[in-house]
Amino acid sequence: MAAGGSTQQRRREMAAASAAAISGAGRCRLSKIGATRRPPPARVRVAVRLRPFVDGTAGASDPPCVRGMDSCSLEIANWRNHQETLKYQFDAFYGERSTQQDIYAGSVQPILRHLLEGQNASVLAYGPTGAGKTHTMLGSPEQPGVIPRALMDLLQLTREEGAEGRPWALSVTMSYLEIYQEKVLDLLDPASGDLVIREDCRGNILIPGLTQKPITSFADFERHFLPASRNRTVGATRLNQRSSRSHAVLLVKVDQRERLAPFRQREGKLYLIDLAGSEDNRRTGNKGLRLKESGAINTSLFVLGKVVDALNQGLPRVPYRDSKLTRLLQDSLGGSAHSILIANIAPERRFYLDTVSALNFAARSKEVINRPFTNESLQPHVLGPVKLSQKELLGPPEAKRARGPEEEEIGSPEPMAAPASASQKLSPLQKLSSMDPAMLERLLSLDRLLASQGSQGAPLLSTPKRERMVLMKTVEEKDLEIERLKTKQKELEAKMLAQKAEEKENHCPTMLRPLSHRTVTGAKPLKKAVVMPLQLIQEQAASPNAEIHILKNKGRKRKLESLDALEPEEKAEDCWELQISPELLAHGRQKILDLLNEGSARDLRSLQRIGPKKAQLIVGWRELHGPFSQVEDLERVEGITGKQMESFLKVKSRPCPSSACPAPRTPL
Ligand code: ADP
Ligand code: MG
Repeated sequence: MAAGGSTQQRRREMAAASAAAISGAGRCRLSKIGATRRPPPARVRVAVRLRPFVDGTAGASDPPCVRGMDSCSLEIANWRNHQETLKYQFDAFYGERSTQQDIYAGSVQPILRHLLEGQNASVLAYGPTGAGKTHTMLGSPEQPGVIPRALMDLLQLTREEGAEGRPWALSVTMSYLEIYQEKVLDLLDPASGDLVIREDCRGNILIPGLTQKPITSFADFERHFLPASRNRTVGATRLNQRSSRSHAVLLVKVDQRERLAPFRQREGKLYLIDLAGSEDNRRTGNKGLRLKESGAINTSLFVLGKVVDALNQGLPRVPYRDSKLTRLLQDSLGGSAHSILIANIAPERRFYLDTVSALNFAARSKEVINRPFTNESLQPHVLGPVKLSQKELLGPPEAKRARGPEEEEIGSPEPMAAPASASQKLSPLQKLSSMDPAMLERLLSLDRLLASQGSQGAPLLSTPKRERMVLMKTVEEKDLEIERLKTKQKELEAKMLAQKAEEKENHCPTMLRPLSHRTVTGAKPLKKAVVMPLQLIQEQAASPNAEIHILKNKGRKRKLESLDALEPEEKAEDCWELQISPELLAHGRQKILDLLNEGSARDLRSLQRIGPKKAQLIVGWRELHGPFSQVEDLERVEGITGKQMESFLKVKSRPCPSSACPAPRTPL
């Protein structure tokens, strides 16, 4: 059992690591200095907050169905068995008497310091409608919730850390959006339409065109946040008079720039998320648009559950992309953030089923492991030491929605960094100064090529980013293609050489196919056997196209074989019968006779089994007795036996490997 548990734990860690990798760790060499080391795991922390009875609903007729046991655990009645209770344990449990400060100080404040380390953090309020999510996150002027408290502290922290004389200059921006019916809406600019969620080369999730407001004080924050909150889509249901109908996401970014060498940059993101509640349409009385809204809300929360399950089970695919909410939370769940989930529950019996399902989701979430890392990069040297002015600290003019499409696709939309030089505006691929000279040269020649072809487009080295990226990709593809072709050519050359070598070995270039191409098995004898007198083989090599009929199949077909028509598909039939054509034979014998009469001792040694001694004997016999009248006269040469003579006249043969098909014998 324990072993199984540890295996599951390992799988979860691996899944977390791969999810972190997917979300960017190590994917982009330009940044994430900390990503070279494997970041330590950080489990998603889960706290449960039980709100008190509201609207005087408490009473003898409605006793609470859930109660806390200690600071980490609680129990809830088991509806299947009234005699027992279901017990849950979390990182923290906050009872109905807990204050806003308790929750903030106990669960949220500790993760804020990670933002100054260039790491991400997120706080999610989860739970059924009316259970206190908005109260926890936003609160009221009298009881401010997590959001105002976190902003207050964060701004204070950045002021201290970024003060003159400190090594880092800090700046903070805020964005505020809601996901309503799978649409991403900018609450700081409600006129904008549905925004897209993208991922940059570093695996950061970003929303191009999302308004970012620089903030230096809490007053700044309120100035932007309060009107934006009123833009949030809310509706009235029976459960909650101002029920939240959308997921509200407040994004606070802390950017840091080192004042001295090596001029590092860090970015930490804090997501503060007030999720819409999971609706039970039968109880809310939702109809029409409300019903549609519920469907969308349920879908994204359903996907959220699937994401958590996939991470827990270590599945290779985590369905982040199946909903806008999970896509946005990709860094926060199983990704690079320090995450805390606050599950809000209500004590009333009518919430019972929602409470149980929220507790189950919370229990599953606490198994998710994140791997937060420092999001750090080096500033380009061209910028030199930066001493940020107050204006720079505030950031550049607010992000404008009208951005080039190329920036939406690949660039970071963050407009708040220090003023960028021309080269800084380019993506890493486009930095000409740092570009590989060979690549630069190739781009220039491509430019020339395009110009020579009368291309109307802008020169390659000054086209918009996207086009240049496409061209770079094409160049890369072409390079790969060339490499592929080169390899293929080498293979073919090697093959040809091997074939030639084999042909040389066999002295039979045209008739015998390379051995490697044969399927030699004991059961299947070779189909072709070629038998030729040695001297003819040599001659044949000189005129490979000559058509010489040599063999006849003894099988059923008994047809004359042509060397040109050797068909590998033909059935191997019984055996082969040697049938050398008489002309061919006579021709061969004449050649040998000529050699015996005219050849030097050296020439004679080319005959089989004729060494220097025997060659001399033949020459001597010739001088004494005159020319040989027939090959058989050789027997008369002293020292040459009839057997030897036969042997040197022996034909070169390629015997059939099968025992059923013995090698053909020479008819000589
Ligand atoms: P949700 O956002 O989950 O739908 P709300 O935050 O709007 O729920 O809370 C529903 C109601 O309960 C609100 O009137 C809110 O003021 C009240 N409430 C929630 N939590 C608490 C709490 N801890 N203490 C007092 N009142 C609370
Ligand atoms: Mg709410």
